Amino acid sequence: TSMVYRRLGRSGLQVSLFSLGSWVTFHNQVDSSGVREMMAMAWDAGVNFFDNAEVYANGESELLMGKALKQLSWNRLDYVISSKFYWGLKGGDKPQSSINSRNTLNRKYLLQAVDGSLQRLGLEYLDLIYCHRADQHTPIEETVWAMHNIIEQGKALYWGTSEWSAAEIMAAWEIAERHHLHKPVMEQPEYHLFHRQRVENEYARLYEHMSLGLTTWSPLASGLLTGKYLKGIPEGSRASLPALSFLKEGLLDQDKNAAVAELQGLAQSINCSVSQLALAWVAHNPHVSSVILGASRKEQLQENLAAINVFKALTPEIIQQMESITEKYAD
Ligand code: NDP
Repeated sequence: TSMVYRRLGRSGLQVSLFSLGSWVTFHNQVDSSGVREMMAMAWDAGVNFFDNAEVYANGESELLMGKALKQLSWNRLDYVISSKFYWGLKGGDKPQSSINSRNTLNRKYLLQAVDGSLQRLGLEYLDLIYCHRADQHTPIEETVWAMHNIIEQGKALYWGTSEWSAAEIMAAWEIAERHHLHKPVMEQPEYHLFHRQRVENEYARLYEHMSLGLTTWSPLASGLLTGKYLKGIPEGSRASLPALSFLKEGLLDQDKNAAVAELQGLAQSINCSVSQLALAWVAHNPHVSSVILGASRKEQLQENLAAINVFKALTPEIIQQMESITEKYAD
């Protein structure tokens, strides 16, 4: 097994094709020693990028990653850490304790939020910072200047967006270009066999125009593409968590699960798991700089990291079959 590295869009930064994220898992499903062991396992497989966000477990995910980084004591040059801002931490009960710090990309919030992340992670700088969603109520110009200023302060190296529309990304790019500011380098969209439209069509012009890089999320559609929801909701799975109940309906979708069962047959024919096949498919898109993996257990991570070999062996015929099985149910 050897990792593949790709440049993050037009930047000179190289990220591992598979990276490890912490949403849902760190703190809620994986404790401190588990986090350290998973990060070490990913590291041993060549992973150099670890994804986080201020809002994950309300700051606890960054704390756990920071603790693990301290214990693992890797060379700071050798790893890339991200965080994302928009949702913010839970504030107090007073209305003023959330008005300027939640669901926003205003300058005040962004400049202060980055300091909180650095403190929790125990880092001097973040490699990648993302605007976790678009904020329709803050001028894009204000946000571009704030991200630029954070980079100028030495607190982050590159900035990007997550789930912004192509028009919003383009607007940010134009503002940065006009004022000679640090430009957005990457976007973090949802991308898997059942969710393709934005990455493959909406962003198409951005790859040419600004060499946009992608670090994509939920490659297994929260577990749907593992086949674990074929017979209902397994105990302890993501869909069984009360806080994630909004995912239930999608994860139990009969048509999609039937397609997953078909994919399982295809996976069997080339001696891999359906999860590995689905991960390899995401990695196959050359616009994807890094596929962010999620895992609630070490065995899952082991299996998912090994998908790098499936990626290397993927043929146009297999890809075509995967797409024709899932196409009808993809958006
Ligand atoms: P996936 O779609 O790959 O789902 C991961 C989950 O699926 C695991 O936690 C586990 O859940 C289950 N799973 C994974 N592998 C296996 C396996 N081999 N066998 C059985 N079950 C498996 O990715 P995530 O949704 O976790 O997203 C990955 C990362 O992307 C996040 O950690 C985060 O960093 C980022 N992200 C970013 C977002 C954004 O808005 N920018 C939004 C969402 C994620 P379980 O065991 O609990 O069923």
